[in-house]
Amino acid sequence: MNDTQLQRYGRHILLNEVGIEGQQRILKARILIIGLGGLGSPAALYLAASGVGQITLCDHDTVDLSNLQRQIAHRISSIGLSKVLSAKAAMLEINPDMDCIALPLRADSAQLDELVSGNDAVLDCSDNFATRYAINRACLTHRKPLISGAAILFSGQASVFDFRQPGTACYNCLFPEDSQSQELRCATTGVFSPLTGIIGTIQAAETLKLLAGIDKGLSGRLLTIDALNMNVRQSSFQKDPHCTTCSSK
Ligand SMILES: [Zn+2]
Repeated sequence: MNDTQLQRYGRHILLNEVGIEGQQRILKARILIIGLGGLGSPAALYLAASGVGQITLCDHDTVDLSNLQRQIAHRISSIGLSKVLSAKAAMLEINPDMDCIALPLRADSAQLDELVSGNDAVLDCSDNFATRYAINRACLTHRKPLISGAAILFSGQASVFDFRQPGTACYNCLFPEDSQSQELRCATTGVFSPLTGIIGTIQAAETLKLLAGIDKGLSGRLLTIDALNMNVRQSSFQKDPHCTTCSSK
């Protein structure tokens, strides 16, 4: 690490749990963020600021005025532009030393497979179940840690599925695909702005600990937040032996 890096990451290096070694691991890490909306925005900014070596952003959408209520990586000047390019510009403004790959596309299964296999961890910051299940399958196949988050109305949730560990439950164990209730979308139901910041920031925190080699976190537990009453709860979950996604793997 050079002098500029020692200065930039000094407050991390001072933490016993991170130190020089943990920060170096973060600097060498490669991660994938899918979705650059309310969750992906804070996650991408914190992870770029923290020095993650390479961050690949994947989102096919463009910035709209209605996004700016919560998607803090984007600006008025980015309206109409690709979200990944808008977020990349914000990230590089904070930390020009990191490598950011912006992919303005909706990744299909084959593309997801390739993207997931080339990264150390994957953040699911998407806003729909089809994408969540596809990311879950790709992370399971390639044994990559999945840091999952969701937020709607005043309700948020976050969890970590560390597929590097054998016997880890998957997203489908927790929320089976066939029993999924009707999908709620922010566009029609609304979402409380800072809730997306809270969940996206939890995803960034879980990712950094995982990259730094800190063996403490949300793996195997689901954190839920009711931001209206500000109740935070945690529950543990186990692999479902009948899960249609992971029971045969
Ligand atoms: Zn499963």
